[in-house]
Amino acid sequence: MSLVENCIMNDGEIGIRDKVAISIDRLQAFEPPEGYYLAFSGGKDSQCIYQLALEAGVKFDAHYNVTTVDPPPLTRFIHDDYPDVIWDYPKKSMWQLIIEKKMPPTRQARYCCQLLKEGEGKDRLCVTGVRRAESVKRSSRMPFEVVTRKKSDRILLNDNDEDRRFFENCTAKGKRVVNPIIDWTDNDVWEFIHSRELHYCSLYDEGFNRLGCIGCPLASKKHMREEFARFPEYRQAYINTFDKMIESTEVKNADWKSGEDVMEWWTRDYSKDKVSPNNMILEGFG
Ligand code: SF4
Repeated sequence: MSLVENCIMNDGEIGIRDKVAISIDRLQAFEPPEGYYLAFSGGKDSQCIYQLALEAGVKFDAHYNVTTVDPPPLTRFIHDDYPDVIWDYPKKSMWQLIIEKKMPPTRQARYCCQLLKEGEGKDRLCVTGVRRAESVKRSSRMPFEVVTRKKSDRILLNDNDEDRRFFENCTAKGKRVVNPIIDWTDNDVWEFIHSRELHYCSLYDEGFNRLGCIGCPLASKKHMREEFARFPEYRQAYINTFDKMIESTEVKNADWKSGEDVMEWWTRDYSKDKVSPNNMILEGFG
Protein backbone atom coordinates (compact mmCIF):
# COMPACT_ATOMS: atom_id res chain seq x y z
CA MET A 1 0.00 0.00 0.00
CA SER A 2 1.41 3.38 -0.95
CA LEU A 3 2.00 6.16 1.56
CA VAL A 4 -0.82 8.23 0.13
CA GLU A 5 -3.33 5.35 0.49
CA ASN A 6 -2.10 4.80 4.03
CA CYS A 7 -2.59 8.46 4.96
CA ILE A 8 -6.11 8.53 3.55
CA MET A 9 -7.05 5.36 5.43
CA ASN A 10 -5.68 6.56 8.74
CA ASP A 11 -6.87 10.15 8.72
CA GLY A 12 -9.64 10.39 6.18
CA GLU A 13 -8.31 13.81 5.41
CA ILE A 14 -4.74 14.61 4.48
CA GLY A 15 -3.15 17.61 6.20
CA ILE A 16 -0.04 19.47 5.14
CA ARG A 17 2.29 17.27 7.21
CA ASP A 18 1.06 14.15 5.44
CA LYS A 19 1.20 15.91 2.12
CA VAL A 20 4.82 16.86 2.72
CA ALA A 21 5.61 13.22 3.61
CA ILE A 22 3.85 12.00 0.46
CA SER A 23 5.64 14.53 -1.75
CA ILE A 24 9.00 13.55 -0.27
CA ASP A 25 8.16 9.89 -0.82
CA ARG A 26 7.32 10.61 -4.47
CA LEU A 27 10.70 12.25 -4.91
CA GLN A 28 12.68 9.58 -3.09
CA ALA A 29 10.99 6.74 -4.96
CA PHE A 30 12.47 7.58 -8.36
CA GLU A 31 15.69 9.49 -7.74
CA PRO A 32 17.84 8.84 -10.82
CA PRO A 33 21.62 8.31 -10.38
CA GLU A 34 22.36 11.55 -12.28
CA GLY A 35 19.80 13.47 -10.20
CA TYR A 36 16.54 15.15 -11.14
CA TYR A 37 16.13 18.07 -13.54
CA LEU A 38 14.04 20.44 -11.41
CA ALA A 39 12.07 23.08 -13.35
CA PHE A 40 12.29 26.31 -11.36
CA SER A 41 10.40 29.50 -12.26
CA GLY A 42 10.90 31.43 -9.02
CA GLY A 43 7.19 31.21 -8.17
CA LYS A 44 5.75 29.80 -4.95
CA ASP A 45 5.23 26.28 -6.37
CA SER A 46 8.82 26.11 -7.57
CA GLN A 47 10.01 27.12 -4.15
CA CYS A 48 8.05 24.22 -2.63
CA ILE A 49 9.51 21.56 -4.94
CA TYR A 50 13.00 22.97 -4.46
CA GLN A 51 12.61 22.87 -0.67
CA LEU A 52 11.05 19.39 -0.78
CA ALA A 53 13.93 18.09 -2.90
CA LEU A 54 16.34 19.43 -0.27
CA GLU A 55 14.37 17.83 2.54
CA ALA A 56 14.07 14.56 0.60
CA GLY A 57 17.86 14.52 0.28
CA VAL A 58 17.66 13.71 -3.43
CA LYS A 59 20.18 14.84 -6.00
CA PHE A 60 18.93 17.52 -8.39
CA ASP A 61 19.89 20.50 -10.48
CA ALA A 62 17.37 23.33 -10.73
CA HIS A 63 16.89 25.21 -14.01
CA TYR A 64 15.23 28.52 -14.73
CA ASN A 65 14.16 28.99 -18.36
CA VAL A 66 14.85 32.64 -19.12
CA THR A 67 11.76 33.87 -20.99
CA THR A 68 13.14 37.40 -21.53
CA VAL A 69 9.78 38.84 -20.36
CA ASP A 70 9.66 37.78 -16.73
CA PRO A 71 9.08 40.58 -14.20
CA PRO A 72 12.35 42.11 -12.92
CA PRO A 73 11.43 41.55 -9.23
CA LEU A 74 11.08 37.84 -10.03
CA THR A 75 14.40 37.51 -11.86
CA ARG A 76 16.12 39.49 -9.07
CA PHE A 77 14.58 37.17 -6.50
CA ILE A 78 15.83 34.06 -8.32
CA HIS A 79 19.26 35.61 -8.72
CA ASP A 80 19.57 36.68 -5.08
CA ASP A 81 17.79 33.87 -3.22
CA TYR A 82 18.58 30.85 -5.39
CA PRO A 83 22.14 31.40 -6.62
CA ASP A 84 22.63 27.75 -7.51
CA VAL A 85 19.74 27.71 -9.99
CA ILE A 86 21.02 27.39 -13.56
CA TRP A 87 19.73 30.03 -16.00
CA ASP A 88 18.99 28.48 -19.40
CA TYR A 89 18.80 31.13 -22.14
CA PRO A 90 16.58 30.68 -25.19
CA LYS A 91 17.92 30.85 -28.75
CA LYS A 92 15.59 33.76 -29.47
CA SER A 93 14.01 36.41 -27.26
CA MET A 94 10.29 37.15 -27.13
CA TRP A 95 11.03 40.30 -29.17
CA GLN A 96 12.74 38.34 -31.93
CA LEU A 97 9.94 35.77 -31.99
CA ILE A 98 7.25 38.43 -32.39
CA ILE A 99 9.02 39.97 -35.40
CA GLU A 100 9.60 36.53 -36.89
CA LYS A 101 6.01 35.34 -36.39
CA LYS A 102 4.61 38.74 -37.44
CA MET A 103 2.12 38.84 -34.61
CA PRO A 104 2.06 38.93 -30.82
CA PRO A 105 1.39 35.57 -29.15
CA THR A 106 -2.29 34.76 -28.60
CA ARG A 107 -4.11 31.88 -26.92
CA GLN A 108 -4.46 30.20 -30.29
CA ALA A 109 -0.98 31.08 -31.52
CA ARG A 110 1.05 30.37 -28.41
CA TYR A 111 4.30 29.92 -30.26
CA CYS A 112 6.42 31.34 -27.43
CA CYS A 113 5.86 28.64 -24.79
CA GLN A 114 7.37 25.86 -26.83
CA LEU A 115 10.39 27.98 -27.71
CA LEU A 116 10.94 29.82 -24.44
CA LYS A 117 9.75 27.38 -21.79
CA GLU A 118 9.13 23.80 -22.81
CA GLY A 119 12.22 22.52 -24.58
CA GLU A 120 14.46 21.75 -21.63
CA GLY A 121 15.02 18.68 -19.54
CA LYS A 122 14.97 16.29 -22.49
CA ASP A 123 16.13 12.78 -21.57
CA ARG A 124 16.07 13.70 -17.88
CA LEU A 125 13.70 12.70 -15.10
CA CYS A 126 12.03 16.04 -14.39
CA VAL A 127 10.36 17.52 -11.34
CA THR A 128 7.73 20.22 -11.79
CA GLY A 129 5.52 22.27 -9.49
CA VAL A 130 2.33 21.54 -11.43
CA ARG A 131 -0.77 21.43 -9.20
CA ARG A 132 -4.33 20.38 -10.01
CA ALA A 133 -5.71 23.38 -8.13
CA GLU A 134 -4.05 25.79 -10.58
CA SER A 135 -6.63 25.40 -13.35
CA VAL A 136 -9.40 23.23 -14.75
CA LYS A 137 -7.01 22.12 -17.47
CA ARG A 138 -4.61 20.77 -14.86
CA SER A 139 -7.30 19.15 -12.69
CA SER A 140 -6.79 15.73 -14.25
CA ARG A 141 -2.99 15.73 -13.99
CA MET A 142 -1.23 13.01 -11.98
CA PRO A 143 1.84 12.71 -9.73
CA PHE A 144 3.75 10.71 -12.36
CA GLU A 145 3.57 11.29 -16.08
CA VAL A 146 5.29 10.24 -19.27
CA VAL A 147 5.18 13.01 -21.86
CA THR A 148 5.34 11.61 -25.37
CA ARG A 149 5.88 13.60 -28.55
CA LYS A 150 2.12 14.05 -28.97
CA LYS A 151 1.04 15.91 -25.84
CA SER A 152 -2.45 14.40 -25.90
CA ASP A 153 -0.87 10.94 -25.55
CA ARG A 154 0.66 11.85 -22.16
CA ILE A 155 0.59 8.79 -19.88
CA LEU A 156 -0.88 9.73 -16.48
CA LEU A 157 0.03 7.61 -13.48
CA ASN A 158 -1.20 7.59 -9.93
CA ASP A 159 0.33 6.74 -6.56
CA ASN A 160 -0.70 3.07 -6.48
CA ASP A 161 1.96 0.37 -6.61
CA GLU A 162 1.07 -0.81 -10.11
CA ASP A 163 1.34 2.69 -11.62
CA ARG A 164 4.59 3.34 -9.78
CA ARG A 165 6.04 0.10 -11.13
CA PHE A 166 5.00 1.09 -14.64
CA PHE A 167 6.62 4.51 -14.21
CA GLU A 168 9.81 3.02 -12.87
CA ASN A 169 10.16 0.57 -15.74
CA CYS A 170 8.63 2.69 -18.48
CA THR A 171 10.55 2.37 -21.70
CA ALA A 172 8.20 4.55 -23.78
CA LYS A 173 10.07 7.26 -25.62
CA GLY A 174 9.33 10.43 -23.77
CA LYS A 175 10.09 12.63 -20.83
CA ARG A 176 9.27 11.18 -17.41
CA VAL A 177 7.94 13.76 -14.99
CA VAL A 178 7.30 13.73 -11.24
CA ASN A 179 4.79 16.28 -9.95
CA PRO A 180 5.30 15.93 -6.18
CA ILE A 181 2.83 18.67 -5.13
CA ILE A 182 0.13 17.77 -7.67
CA ASP A 183 -2.55 17.58 -4.93
CA TRP A 184 -1.55 20.65 -2.91
CA THR A 185 -3.94 23.56 -2.55
CA ASP A 186 -2.87 27.22 -2.57
CA ASN A 187 -3.20 27.16 1.22
CA ASP A 188 -0.90 24.13 1.47
CA VAL A 189 1.71 25.96 -0.58
CA TRP A 190 1.62 29.07 1.59
CA GLU A 191 1.47 27.06 4.81
CA PHE A 192 4.59 25.17 3.74
CA ILE A 193 6.44 28.34 2.69
CA HIS A 194 5.63 30.06 5.98
CA SER A 195 6.46 26.95 8.04
CA ARG A 196 9.96 26.94 6.49
CA GLU A 197 10.22 30.74 6.79
CA LEU A 198 11.10 31.00 3.12
CA HIS A 199 11.56 34.44 1.63
CA TYR A 200 9.35 34.76 -1.49
CA CYS A 201 9.06 37.15 -4.45
CA SER A 202 7.74 40.57 -3.39
CA LEU A 203 5.16 40.60 -6.21
CA TYR A 204 2.92 38.26 -4.20
CA ASP A 205 2.57 40.95 -1.55
CA GLU A 206 1.54 43.39 -4.30
CA GLY A 207 -1.44 41.16 -5.09
CA PHE A 208 -0.05 38.99 -7.90
CA ASN A 209 -1.36 35.43 -7.56
CA ARG A 210 0.73 33.88 -10.29
CA LEU A 211 4.05 35.04 -11.61
CA GLY A 212 5.39 34.66 -15.11
CA CYS A 213 5.78 36.29 -18.49
CA ILE A 214 4.57 39.89 -18.68
CA GLY A 215 1.91 40.01 -21.41
CA CYS A 216 1.21 36.26 -21.39
CA PRO A 217 -1.86 35.67 -23.59
CA LEU A 218 -3.06 32.93 -21.27
CA ALA A 219 -3.87 35.52 -18.61
CA SER A 220 -7.07 37.58 -18.71
CA LYS A 221 -6.99 40.86 -20.61
CA LYS A 222 -7.55 42.62 -17.30
CA HIS A 223 -4.47 40.96 -15.87
CA MET A 224 -2.45 41.87 -18.97
CA ARG A 225 -3.41 45.53 -18.61
CA GLU A 226 -2.57 45.47 -14.89
CA GLU A 227 0.84 43.99 -15.66
CA PHE A 228 1.55 46.67 -18.24
CA ALA A 229 0.51 49.37 -15.75
CA ARG A 230 2.92 47.86 -13.20
CA PHE A 231 5.73 47.42 -15.74
CA PRO A 232 5.35 50.29 -18.25
CA GLU A 233 8.86 49.70 -19.59
CA TYR A 234 7.72 46.30 -20.85
CA ARG A 235 4.61 47.83 -22.42
CA GLN A 236 6.89 50.20 -24.29
CA ALA A 237 9.27 47.40 -25.29
CA TYR A 238 6.34 45.44 -26.76
CA ILE A 239 5.13 48.54 -28.64
CA ASN A 240 8.62 49.15 -30.04
CA THR A 241 8.73 45.53 -31.16
CA PHE A 242 5.30 45.80 -32.78
CA ASP A 243 6.53 48.90 -34.65
CA LYS A 244 9.48 46.91 -35.97
CA MET A 245 7.17 44.01 -36.81
CA ILE A 246 4.95 46.30 -38.91
CA GLU A 247 7.96 47.80 -40.67
CA SER A 248 9.30 44.36 -41.53
CA THR A 249 6.01 43.07 -42.95
CA GLU A 250 5.52 43.58 -46.67
CA VAL A 251 1.74 43.28 -46.85
CA LYS A 252 0.29 45.74 -44.36
CA ASN A 253 -2.68 45.13 -42.10
CA ALA A 254 -5.15 48.00 -42.48
CA ASP A 255 -5.90 48.03 -38.74
CA TRP A 256 -2.30 48.05 -37.57
CA LYS A 257 -0.65 51.35 -38.45
CA SER A 258 1.54 51.51 -35.36
CA GLY A 259 2.77 49.49 -32.40
CA GLU A 260 0.18 51.26 -30.26
CA ASP A 261 -2.59 49.89 -32.55
CA VAL A 262 -1.28 46.36 -32.06
CA MET A 263 -1.07 46.86 -28.29
CA GLU A 264 -4.66 48.12 -28.24
CA TRP A 265 -5.81 45.09 -30.26
CA TRP A 266 -3.80 42.70 -28.12
CA THR A 267 -4.99 43.91 -24.73
CA ARG A 268 -8.61 44.78 -25.55
CA ASP A 269 -11.26 42.53 -23.98
CA TYR A 270 -13.22 41.19 -26.94
CA SER A 271 -15.41 38.87 -24.86
CA LYS A 272 -18.49 41.03 -25.48
CA ASP A 273 -17.68 41.72 -29.14
CA LYS A 274 -19.03 39.56 -31.92
CA VAL A 275 -15.65 39.23 -33.60
CA SER A 276 -12.83 37.87 -31.52
CA PRO A 277 -9.35 38.95 -32.53
CA ASN A 278 -8.39 35.32 -32.69
CA ASN A 279 -10.94 34.79 -35.48
CA MET A 280 -9.74 37.75 -37.50
CA ILE A 281 -7.78 37.06 -40.63
CA LEU A 282 -4.72 39.22 -40.47
CA GLU A 283 -3.63 39.86 -44.01
CA GLY A 284 0.09 39.65 -44.38
CA PHE A 285 0.56 38.64 -40.75
CA GLY A 286 1.05 35.26 -39.18
S1 SF4 B 1 4.02 34.37 -22.60
FE1 SF4 B 1 2.72 32.74 -21.78
S2 SF4 B 1 2.48 31.41 -23.53
FE2 SF4 B 1 4.31 32.67 -23.93
S3 SF4 B 1 6.12 31.63 -23.06
FE3 SF4 B 1 5.33 32.92 -21.49
S4 SF4 B 1 3.94 31.55 -20.30
FE4 SF4 B 1 4.24 30.61 -22.31
